[in-house]
Amino acid sequence: MTNRKKIVIIGGVATGPKAAARARRRDPNADITIIEKGRLLSYAGCGMPYYISGEIPDCNELMCTPHGTVRNEVFFRNVKDVTALTRTLAESIDRENKEVRIVHLETQEHSSIPYDNLVLATGASHFRPPIEGSNLYRIFVLGHPDDAIAIHDAARAEDVKRVALFGGGLIGMEVTEALSKLGLEVIVVEMIDQLLPKLLDPEMAAFLAKYLKSQGVKLLLAEKAVKLEGDDRNNIRKVITDKNEIDADMVVTAVGVRPNVELAKNAGLTIGGTGAIAVNEYMQTNDPDIYAGGDCVENTHMVTGKKVYVPLGSTANKHGRIIGDNVTGGSEKFRGVLGTTLFKIFDYTVGCTGLTEKAAKELGYPVVTCLAPGPDCAHYYPGYAMILTKLVVNKENGKILGAQIIGAGDVDKRLDVIVTAIMSGGTVKDVADLDLGYAPPYANAIDNIAHAANIIRNKMDGLAKSLTPMEVKARIERGDDFILLDVRTPPEFDRIRIEDNRVRLIPLGNLRARISELPKDKEIIVFCAISLRGYEAQRILEGYGFTHVKFMDGGIAAWPY
Ligand SMILES: Cc1cc2nc3c(=O)[nH]c(=O)nc-3n(C[C@H](O)[C@H](O)[C@H](O)COP(=O)(O)OP(=O)(O)OC[C@H]3O[C@@H](n4cnc5c(N)ncnc54)[C@H](O)[C@@H]3O)c2cc1C
Repeated sequence: MTNRKKIVIIGGVATGPKAAARARRRDPNADITIIEKGRLLSYAGCGMPYYISGEIPDCNELMCTPHGTVRNEVFFRNVKDVTALTRTLAESIDRENKEVRIVHLETQEHSSIPYDNLVLATGASHFRPPIEGSNLYRIFVLGHPDDAIAIHDAARAEDVKRVALFGGGLIGMEVTEALSKLGLEVIVVEMIDQLLPKLLDPEMAAFLAKYLKSQGVKLLLAEKAVKLEGDDRNNIRKVITDKNEIDADMVVTAVGVRPNVELAKNAGLTIGGTGAIAVNEYMQTNDPDIYAGGDCVENTHMVTGKKVYVPLGSTANKHGRIIGDNVTGGSEKFRGVLGTTLFKIFDYTVGCTGLTEKAAKELGYPVVTCLAPGPDCAHYYPGYAMILTKLVVNKENGKILGAQIIGAGDVDKRLDVIVTAIMSGGTVKDVADLDLGYAPPYANAIDNIAHAANIIRNKMDGLAKSLTPMEVKARIERGDDFILLDVRTPPEFDRIRIEDNRVRLIPLGNLRARISELPKDKEIIVFCAISLRGYEAQRILEGYGFTHVKFMDGGIAAWPY
């Protein structure tokens, strides 16, 4: 027993327990210890918004196995043969003597634990902006089940009606949904001029913003909270921004996380340029006996090869598994991340992976994009729902750089196919060729992503020429002289239309007969519901010798105004 390998893991939520469980399965003799400063272990933080909304009635479900066993110290001892020390802080690492100095937070007892391999799974901390008045009551972050319980309870208080939510990112969106579902009025304050600035391009964010407004969410974009004011009981009552004053009975701050790197830094481990711990592909720090994973490390982006900080539970669990392998004699490599993100907001799903158009252009990629709206299954099948797909592609070689998909239909499976394509170096031709399953209740004969890939191929071949809705809007606002040609039917036009004196309605079926009504010397921008007819109209007009014709990408369906 004296030869048992000592594996010590700091952090007991996602990466840590995953590494412990994997290591145990590979090495039944290893002496494995998890050190966790909190009272809870291995909880599903990603499920917290659904506890706040009431969809998950009991917060303990987030700490349970699928069979209802709570993952506590006893579970880790009995089922995994892992020692889990909760309420225990790892204070410092002595690399020379290979020991971790710990303190039990209840008893203040100090001691040391020796290791052969050490794993840092210290996660990240939620950033609290230093705003005047932040010490008032009912101001929360959501990083731990205790926060979720506090938000859950406060949101149900009699005098809480309006919530100000700081930050329009992933967690902000999930909390927006949760609190709106409770009947609270939610006002999102985001200092950038769009939602999800790191994940979505502006037109996709505007499309999402339009939907959120339709669900009663108020958005204050390009606006920054600067001060909080309370009542005589010190409960928050007012948020002062740089532009407004908002009444609010509760604040949730979701403005991002910072990697917990102090322990690593103090031990002389290398911190990367992103501010997170630097690791190699084996998840090893610059000390080969010390591994690190999850929200405390930086990753390699699989499109750019650059280091990025993208803290996600999906990645944290993969890191844990690889570390579990490598601390038990394996040599598994972690390939990197695409930053694939998926979340639900009311009836919509939002998914994105790889680079946005903005990021791709900033990095110098030659970019071609498309906006492809369409039903997620056969349009005649009851219950179909629309999704809007944006592909970002390298226009020189057709390789997919990224994708964003939003809508009420099946977003996740399309997103995952794109992830697979990017990770296998796929091009738009590869995606168009995929032998995807088809039956009317599930998909279209040419699936949405294959359709989007074909639009890009048409653009690369010079057949399709387009402008984005944002570019069209900018031209309208600039007062440019062009014809905005709507080729839908009159009933479609009556239902919804772009109000502008440049708009002319000529249904596609009449276009050839009425071609003489259009001047050849003027720019024409064509659109329809989703721009399938718009593209066709562009080709018809070009066939008649028109040379200044483009269609509006995504048509009315992608028009976010
Ligand atoms: C509301 C919410 C929703 C989310 N939804 C999703 C989602 O849908 N999909 C997704 O992929 N990701 C999601 N995430 C992110 C995901 O939860 C994290 O990426 C994941 O928890 C990271 O796991 P980790 O083990 O690296 O770190 P953490 O979960 O941060 O755990 C680190 C632990 O280390 C402990 N620790 C730190 N320092 C010490 C020390 N010195 N001594 C002892 N203990 C220490 C901390 O107390 C903490 O418990 C969500 C996060 C939140 C908050």
